[in-house]
Amino acid sequence: MLERMSTFFNKSKTQSNPTVVSRENHSLSFSLVSRDAIKVVQTLQKAGYEAYIVGGSVRDLLLGLSPKDFDVATNALPSEVKALFRRSRIIGRRFQIVHVQFSREVIEVTTFRSNEKSNSDEQPKNTDSRQKTNSGLLTRDNVFGTLEEDAARRDLTVNALYYDPSEEIIYDFADGMKDIKNRVIRIIGNASTRYSEDPVRLLRVIRFSAKLDFTIETGTAKPIRKLSSDLRYISSPRLFDESLKLFMSGEGLSSYKLLKEYGLFEYLVPQAKNLVRNKSINADSLFEQAFLNTDNRIKSSQRVTPAFIYAALLWPSLVKLTEAFKEKGNSPSYSLNKAASEVISRQISITAIPKRFTIPMREIWDLQLQMPRRGGKRAERLSLHRRFRAGYDFILLREQAGENLDNLGEWWTLYQEASIEGREKMSQNVSKTSKRIVKNRKSKTKNAK
Ligand code: ATP
Ligand code: MG
Repeated sequence: MLERMSTFFNKSKTQSNPTVVSRENHSLSFSLVSRDAIKVVQTLQKAGYEAYIVGGSVRDLLLGLSPKDFDVATNALPSEVKALFRRSRIIGRRFQIVHVQFSREVIEVTTFRSNEKSNSDEQPKNTDSRQKTNSGLLTRDNVFGTLEEDAARRDLTVNALYYDPSEEIIYDFADGMKDIKNRVIRIIGNASTRYSEDPVRLLRVIRFSAKLDFTIETGTAKPIRKLSSDLRYISSPRLFDESLKLFMSGEGLSSYKLLKEYGLFEYLVPQAKNLVRNKSINADSLFEQAFLNTDNRIKSSQRVTPAFIYAALLWPSLVKLTEAFKEKGNSPSYSLNKAASEVISRQISITAIPKRFTIPMREIWDLQLQMPRRGGKRAERLSLHRRFRAGYDFILLREQAGENLDNLGEWWTLYQEASIEGREKMSQNVSKTSKRIVKNRKSKTKNAK
């Protein structure tokens, strides 16, 4: 039974008094909570501060999932937290938080924040600590607040649960326990206002709905489409980080489907919008297949890289632009190179893909041009290319998505499995076949004349 301390509930805010859920009434197992997070909370409590484990870890533990990380919220100021832990440092400009380093993990400690302008003496010296633009976008958000205020400024009801490991009690300010039980994603407060303050929340709603397989509550879902273009206010590094969380968390395919459904995907990869579905390339099935393969790799603990995903997401745009350059009389490799630069530079203004990923992306693309030409010594040389594996996987991906490449993927599969002699034979056969094709072509043109 939940013990309701107050019946007061304002729909646009969180409750001023939380529902207190005692140990017997919740399924959060103390033994699964990080020892380091408990240590941080108890050190803060011993020093006279309030401290709780909060956010995704409480939510995930209640759902029987293993949390990615543990966050702690406290009324101690960043400098006060830092003073208590030897191996800690203050990071961040937009949000000042403290990272407490342990041998196996980092515990992120956040000081309670408020959504309102506050007159408290404890505010940072900078009086402009909270600013909004005309569109309602928050540009700085470092106003410290109370526990209740901290709960109100969190994004989702299921993310606003506070766990006190000393008492094994959960404090629920926004009926998050009920939403966890009913598997519902619900934003705290007025949805449009909360999205306008920080458009990343549009993506977070999608991400958690996909990750947890929760339905999005009607009021939370309704404004998403209308506000989707607000994603352009998010800085390109932040949008890149957030995109990776959507694409590489194991639920990429369902995230992609939801992003499309709510009109958000086109703001993450604008070039892919309205792509002509020519007969050899179907952007949508390529993307679905790329996400499906990524999800499967994650499930079987294989490595995944943003380079491969973005190589796929930009491939249809690349093919289209390469064709345009070729039509102007440029060589295939020059055209591909020019198109690659252009496609990447358009994308990085939206999501700041670091160079360490754009370089392998270009190599994967380049291999798509090289790998069909595998006669003579070329196959062996290509198989030693440092990006060969990704290039080969990309060929398979294109074929899985329905592109006809004359069984090129299968050829390369057999080539890799073959003995040295077998490989040589395969290459010779390719050389013979391609010579025959060239010969046939030549005689056809002769006859035509
Ligand atoms: P996970 O770590 O599994 O991705 P999480 O819920 O812990 O999920 P974090 O990004 O680690 O997500 O954020 C921790 C908590 O901070 C969230 O649970 C939420 O309460 C709050 N939070 C994060 N981002 C926002 C935001 N943009 N607006 C409001 N609250 C946020
Ligand atoms: Mg987290």
